[in-house]
Parts: sequence; structure tokens; C-alpha cells
Amino acid sequence: MSTQLNDPLTRPLTKNIREDRRPTDMAAYEANDGYQSLHSTLGKRSPADCLQIIKDSNLRGRGGAGFPTGMKWSFVPMEDATPGHKYLVCNADEMEPGTFKDRWLLECDPHQLIEGMIISAYTLQADIGYIFIRSEYLLAAQLLREAIADCHAKGYLGDNILGSGFNFELHVHASAGRYICGEETALINSLEGKRANPRAKPPFPQVSGLWGRPTIVNNVETLCNIHHIVQHGAQWFQNLGIGSDAGTKLYGISGRVNKPGCWELPIGTPIRDIFALAGGMEQGYELRGFLPGGGSTDFLTPEHLDLAMDYDTIGKAGSRMGTGTMIVLDDKTCAVGFVKNLVEFFAQESCGFCTPCRDGLPWSAQVLDDIQQGRGTSEDMNTLARQIGFIGAIGNTHCALAPGAMEPLASGIQYFREDFERHLNNGHCPLCHEHNPKGK
Ligand code: NAD
Repeated sequence: MSTQLNDPLTRPLTKNIREDRRPTDMAAYEANDGYQSLHSTLGKRSPADCLQIIKDSNLRGRGGAGFPTGMKWSFVPMEDATPGHKYLVCNADEMEPGTFKDRWLLECDPHQLIEGMIISAYTLQADIGYIFIRSEYLLAAQLLREAIADCHAKGYLGDNILGSGFNFELHVHASAGRYICGEETALINSLEGKRANPRAKPPFPQVSGLWGRPTIVNNVETLCNIHHIVQHGAQWFQNLGIGSDAGTKLYGISGRVNKPGCWELPIGTPIRDIFALAGGMEQGYELRGFLPGGGSTDFLTPEHLDLAMDYDTIGKAGSRMGTGTMIVLDDKTCAVGFVKNLVEFFAQESCGFCTPCRDGLPWSAQVLDDIQQGRGTSEDMNTLARQIGFIGAIGNTHCALAPGAMEPLASGIQYFREDFERHLNNGHCPLCHEHNPKGK
């Protein structure tokens, strides 16, 4: 196994990650410039300066939505009329299908997230932080707890950090194990000990979040970027991107490729280059399509391979970059089963609060099952089209879960209609039969 470390200036997020994936402890982290940003920022730069750097950097949220981080932070009231806590929450509830990028960061370099969170909290003047972590990420949670204890011992967490007068406590909280807990307001409800239903927005959490107090919720990868940006500057970060977006991005590919994996690359890297890192398709398999950013994005096809993998370009192509982790559809997998599997997942993960999601997703999954099992009729395709039109429209549901579930379904029908027709016309599909002899 190689122990070669990545270049800190061009691959900052993975600079401590070795191929053997051994976790970076405090000594190794500090030996590679770790906590330097903390030492040079706390008490030496003003929170307002730090906020301006993050705004100027053009960092966009890496959880999937791509909302500008500096803008989000600027909504937090700095002069609060009613004194009390301000919260910083790291959303580590990574459950988007096909997405495993944050796990890599958490398991291999937990101190990077903690340093990013301390600098973020200082910028926001938040005094309490939570890492809300997917319950199955047991190793990551254990490593984070150990790293937090080491930080307390060093005076990097707690009261009067490095003599700066800034106080920050950080806690690890395991998620209840539902996809919807990753929606930021459902996450907040869950942290408060309530059922994880999303809240209506506005008010946004930046103004009224945890226990009604100003709260910032950011994804792991977003927060891991913060101290690098504060240390090296907004212009450095902007220059890392290839096109209009700034920074690097953790991209991933899963499915029938030779080397499924995750890579840190300049944001805006052409999709074809990411496929090349995955070693291309496995022998005997052709690429038919791919979901660019997890299960809740629209399919793209081989004709999109030369597009830049950035928020705007993928948006203009009719999809979303989402989490940046692609799921491949190959020529020996039927799109009907592929999409049904995703819709069933989202149906199961619905919080059940609003009717279109609670009832519409299981209905869509049932129609897809009928089609797959050879019981479908052409009227079923009309039903699916109506469901897509209604459930898929933002505003008809309480949150983005159900519209997200409709994205692979709508684009699956658009690009791979022949698979649906084959099931409808023949009642049998050699692809489904080959992979699932029981027809499930
Ligand atoms: P969103 O666009 O509603 O919000 C994104 C962020 O921007 C939130 O923090 C929100 O508070 C803020 N924001 C948006 N509009 C705002 C406004 N007008 N004023 C102030 N703040 C505003 O998106 P979302 O529903 O939070 O997230 C959807 C994304 O999450 C999808 O792209 C999906 O791919 C992704 N996702 C990722 C995972 C994962 O495991 N990483 C899991 C589920 C979903």
C-alpha cells in the first residue's frame, strides 16, 4: 500500500489520507500542518474577517444542494437581541444512495472536520456544536469521540480556546437511522428529541433552529474546507476549481466499473475523466446511463460524459450534481428494476407527514412492481406520469424527499422507455430475469 500523501495545496481535503486508510491521529495531523489554521485564526483574526473570506471563496454546500456557504452564514444574526446559545451542526447523516464520500473523510481524518468546525464556530460565534452522524458509521463516531477528547486535552475545545476567550463544546450525536434525519430541519427536530419531521421553512435555521436559536447546519465536506480556506485565502480556493465553481470536490462512482471509489479532484472536472479514474466499465458491460449525484438526481447518458461536473453545468443538462457520487446503469441492468429499487427506498424513508409523499411514493413503487412483474398496462405509464407531475413538483410536498425520488423515475422513463415497454409488451424481461431469477 502506498503511504504517499496528497499535495496539500491542490488536494487539501485528502492530504492526510493514505491508501491503507489508516486514521490520522492528533500527532500525524499536527505533523502535517494540522491545527495551524486554528493557531493563526483564534484571537488573531476577527470573525467578520473569516466570514468575508468564506463569502469571497465562493464555497458552495457539498451536501447536495450547493447553496453558497458564506451567504448562508451571513443570515446568522451577529448582534443578538436575546442572548443565548448559537449552534453549529455538522450533518454527517450520509444516507444518499450511492454516497460514501463523507465516510471517507470521517474515518480517515477526523481532526480535519474538527478543526473546520472550530474555525466555523468561531466565525459564527457559535458556542455549541453537534456532529449528527449516521448511526451505522460506528467507526467514524468512535474516532471522532477520541479526537474530541484529544482536542480537549490540547485546549483546542472547551473554554477560552488557546487563550482567545472563545468557548466551544462539540458533541457527537448518533442519528436515529432514517434518511429524512439528514434534512436539516428534521435533523434539528431529531436532535431536540422529537420525531424527525421536516419543519416548514422559513424561518430558516440560521435564524431559528435548535431550540429556536440561530443554527447553521453544514455537510461534512463543506466544513472540512473551512480552515483550509481561512488559512490559504479565498483566491487560492477559487483557483482550485476548473470552471465557475471553486475548490475541489470529492467525486465517486459505484456500479459496474472496474474500480468503484472516491477521488478528490478540481470541481468542474469532466465526467469522462472521473470514469477514467474508475478504470472504465467492467469487461462485458456498456454504460447506458448514470445518476450524477446520488439516488435523488436525474439520469444522464453517455452523451453527457464530456460535461464538466459542476453545479451549473449538470443543472443545465437537466440533472443536479447533488453529492457528486455517481451511480452507473449498465446495459445488463433493466431500468425498471433499478428505478423501482430507488423509489421503494424513498417510500420507506418518507416521514409520512404529507400525503403526496406518504401515499404517493408507495403507490409509485407498487405501479413499478406491477410493471416489473408483468402485470402492468399502458394505463400504468399514465399513472406514473401523473405521479411525477404532482409529487415531483416542488411546493406540493412538505420537503424535497418526494420530488427527489421522482427524479430518477422521470428521467428513467425519458431515457430508457424501451425497458418499460418491454415489460408492458412481453410481460417478461431477460435482464430482470438474469439478475433476479425470482422476478423481484
Ligand atoms: P435546500 O436547497 O432547501 O437547502 C440547502 C441549504 O440552503 C439549507 O441549509 C437551507 O437552509 C439553505 N437555504 C436554501 N434556501 C435558503 C434561503 N432562501 N434562505 C436561507 N437559506 C436557504 O436543499 P435541502 O432540501 O436542504 O437539500 C437537498 C439536497 O440534499 C439534495 O441535493 C440531495 O441530493 C441532498 N441530500 C444529501 C444527502 C447526503 O447523504 N449527503 C442525503 C439526502 C439529501
